[in-house]
Amino acid sequence: MANETPETNGPQEQGKTPEETASEAKAAPAGGGGNAPADPSRRAFFKRVAIGGGAALAGGGLTYAGTQAAIRGRAIDNMDAAIQTDETFKPMDQRDLIFTQALSPVISKKHPERDAQYSKLNNKKFNFHEGAKTFEHAVPFDNSKTGFTQLDKAIHHAAWYPLDLSESHSMAFAQPNTRMFPWDQSDVEKEQYEFPSKEAAAHAIKSAARVWGASRCGITRRDKRWDYDPLYDVLKGRTLSWEKDFPFEPKTVIVIAIAMDYDALATAPAWTAESTIGHGYVVMAQIASQMAKFIRGLGYHAVGAGNDLGNSVAYAVAAGLGEGGRHAQLIVPGIGPRVRLCKVYTDLEFVEYDQPHDWGIAKFCLSCGECAKACPSKALPFVEEKDSGFGFQPTYEFSDEPGYTWNNHTGVLKFHTDAKRCFNFWIENDSACGNCAAACTFNEPDYWHHWFTMGMSTVAPGFLHSLMSKMHPLFGYGETGDPHKVDKFWKTGKGMRVNPKMLNNVSTAGYT
Ligand code: SF4
Ligand code: SF4
Repeated sequence: MANETPETNGPQEQGKTPEETASEAKAAPAGGGGNAPADPSRRAFFKRVAIGGGAALAGGGLTYAGTQAAIRGRAIDNMDAAIQTDETFKPMDQRDLIFTQALSPVISKKHPERDAQYSKLNNKKFNFHEGAKTFEHAVPFDNSKTGFTQLDKAIHHAAWYPLDLSESHSMAFAQPNTRMFPWDQSDVEKEQYEFPSKEAAAHAIKSAARVWGASRCGITRRDKRWDYDPLYDVLKGRTLSWEKDFPFEPKTVIVIAIAMDYDALATAPAWTAESTIGHGYVVMAQIASQMAKFIRGLGYHAVGAGNDLGNSVAYAVAAGLGEGGRHAQLIVPGIGPRVRLCKVYTDLEFVEYDQPHDWGIAKFCLSCGECAKACPSKALPFVEEKDSGFGFQPTYEFSDEPGYTWNNHTGVLKFHTDAKRCFNFWIENDSACGNCAAACTFNEPDYWHHWFTMGMSTVAPGFLHSLMSKMHPLFGYGETGDPHKVDKFWKTGKGMRVNPKMLNNVSTAGYT
């Protein structure tokens, strides 16, 4: 990693013997009281354990170069092999997204059986659309409840405010053609800029993404498998066709990952977590709209997108940004799942495409399962559910009830989740949750030891994966629902030295 090498970590640990460091780590309260991730002695201990354990297991056979290879991943030549589909696959109809069921009065009225089935199976009356109507405004703040006070509610709402002002909040619910992501192409320059090479085009696109705040940017071919089809204008209640309504035929999809703040997300599922979730959406809208405008200025058609138009995780995997995890989110090497994703669809095709990569993350998830343990709504498959294929299969039924997985994309080999239970918890929490991302073993502010251990995985993958997922919470990473983390978050601005070592601002933690 560019700034996470052993050399740059070394000085943090100078002046202490390994025994002193280990003793400090042991003396700290279990769970870390919310301060563990920022405690350098504990990090140092964890690193040493990882190094020592890894080195012992590897018997000196693996080198730093091997670690670097683990961080870079293995390129996959065949795009179809990155995410496999079977004969039951068909494109995802946007009307079958949980977000559409929740936001659209038309779809809600058309499918009352979905609410009825969910209510019956979960033994409570629940209506997705009714719940969504007051979402984020239903539960009054309580100043005696850390994480749910007026202070916490205020930062939650303020984080989203630019999207409210631009009438584009609905793009988080996959609404297409919002003000931030207009389909209007009247400003496409008449003259098309000609790049000297495909490589130069890719460099220019990624340079623009970087300067506007992207943590990662990848470029892939448009793949109709990952587009919602038909599209659905939730606000107008009508289906949209790619051929008849979308303003051009896309050839390329640029995918951008935006890192969220470690300390804010660590407070999940408290309302303070929304300070970075909402802000992530604002940056998505900002960068993707700037990128689309940039490409239109070069004489090519372009439309920015947030959660709309297509499956961002699938496109991000194809663009080589990471792998899908058990929690169905993208896990980005060096950042983890702590990212938001946006896309730009364009007809510019004279560009160098990225390849998907294999980092062994999905394999890791088979024996981890920390996210499933942290999920308050049991929306994620547990590791123990071996008879059900760990949830990693082309389809995954969360119940014996026929049709229960109406909102899942069948025919895709991945971890399937129950977004209905997830969304139900959001309504009860009056806020998005984020526990699964915060608890993820890959969600750490300091990474190189993690990838060192992953590099050792060829020696004893099952054992090391299991060890890594068990040690993660032991060192205070990943615990959720911890009020101490809310207190810690509200002190991260002290002196504005939020990231003196840039540990949390992972946008700079590149892996080159
Ligand atoms: S966001 Fe929360 S409720 Fe939803 S899947 Fe993740 S942990 Fe579960
Ligand atoms: S917590 Fe573990 S199982 Fe869940 S996504 Fe992260 S690595 Fe995979």
